[in-house]
Amino acid sequence: MRNKLRLLTPGPTPIPEQVRLAMAGDMIHHRKPEFKRLLADIQTGLAALFGTAGPVLSLAASGTGAMTAAVTNLFAPGETVLTVEAGKFGQRWSGICRAAGVTALPLSLAWGEAVTPEALRKALDANPGISGVLMQISETSTGVMHPVREIAALTRQRDVLLVADGVSSVGISPCPMDAWGIDVLLTGSQKGLMLPPGLSFIALSPRAWAKAESLPARDFYFCLLKERECCAKRQTAFTPAISLLYGLRESLAMFAGDGLEAIYRKQWALTCLARAGVRALGFALLAKDNYTWGLTSLILPPGMGSGPLLARAADEHGVIMAKGMGHQEDSVVRIGHMGWVDWADLVAGLHALSWSFQELGGYIGAENYLEQALKAYEEALVGPVPAGTSS
Ligand SMILES: *Cc1c(COP(=O)(O)O)cnc(C)c1O
Repeated sequence: MRNKLRLLTPGPTPIPEQVRLAMAGDMIHHRKPEFKRLLADIQTGLAALFGTAGPVLSLAASGTGAMTAAVTNLFAPGETVLTVEAGKFGQRWSGICRAAGVTALPLSLAWGEAVTPEALRKALDANPGISGVLMQISETSTGVMHPVREIAALTRQRDVLLVADGVSSVGISPCPMDAWGIDVLLTGSQKGLMLPPGLSFIALSPRAWAKAESLPARDFYFCLLKERECCAKRQTAFTPAISLLYGLRESLAMFAGDGLEAIYRKQWALTCLARAGVRALGFALLAKDNYTWGLTSLILPPGMGSGPLLARAADEHGVIMAKGMGHQEDSVVRIGHMGWVDWADLVAGLHALSWSFQELGGYIGAENYLEQALKAYEEALVGPVPAGTSS
């Protein structure tokens, strides 16, 4: 018998029914008043989510599009930036810089570790020519959260722009950009925002805008100054992904209805559920210290590959989870719990993991892992929620 399918990957994430229905409406024209109303509604919701007084621009591209726009609009060829490479997405920053002629100095860490503010301060002191720090808030390939708030306290005192990839953070864990002093915050549609892939969003601080204004435009499609001008008139420079924006208005209404605090509490509690369950099952967590809120990554014991395990969990038990990335593809499993995921989905995920593991000959010690996981969830629902960057 076929199971109901549950998508527990760290992007794409499940989409609520009301968001799907909102995307099914008639097409409208993007230079007419109705579109301007749509964009106005979206602006308000996005600004609240980003924690910024400035405009949040929508680009028709996946998350990497906004990452690319950040590099090409803020740094000239020949400039030097520091990239925090603690996983696949950190490496992506260096790759984008390379393609754009910007020199990337990687601050490399073992996969599973978070950068420390001290290490970052040292790197900045040692290389006074650095004009930007490019990093993830949450490194989705390992499940680590970097201390962006503390790092922003360093960069805002210097002539260094802090560019934060919040693709697996915005709408998942607190990252108010103005309050923290982040210069560029960006995200994509297919993770915390509960939408299909295809949109990315980016916001700049006043000093980041000043930097962008000082440079000649070098990208026709991703021109943030042009987009900002259009955005002020409730327009986009090019034909927007109209249907996705209808979905976005609905998902932002859900955020506004629940309130960000309640959303973060739920995300935090789900994180506690997943971590407690994974630990009780006897798996080691990949993240060494700072765990991110949107996913939990675990290390498989030798002899058990992620491929057969995840194929079994999906085909036999209906739960789709993700492998590790890069050199950890075989040895790591990543359970996504960002966006439209609830406790019941995660209980299904843990149980599918345990079942599949045992069916393939693995030994699971704990019998009461679901009780332990749910207890952690219930405690987190009423306990204190961490402020965001470290947990
Ligand atoms: C998913 C993700 C991205 C975006 O990848 P796309 O495939 O371009 O949408 C970027 N950074 C992080 C941290 C991510 O989790």
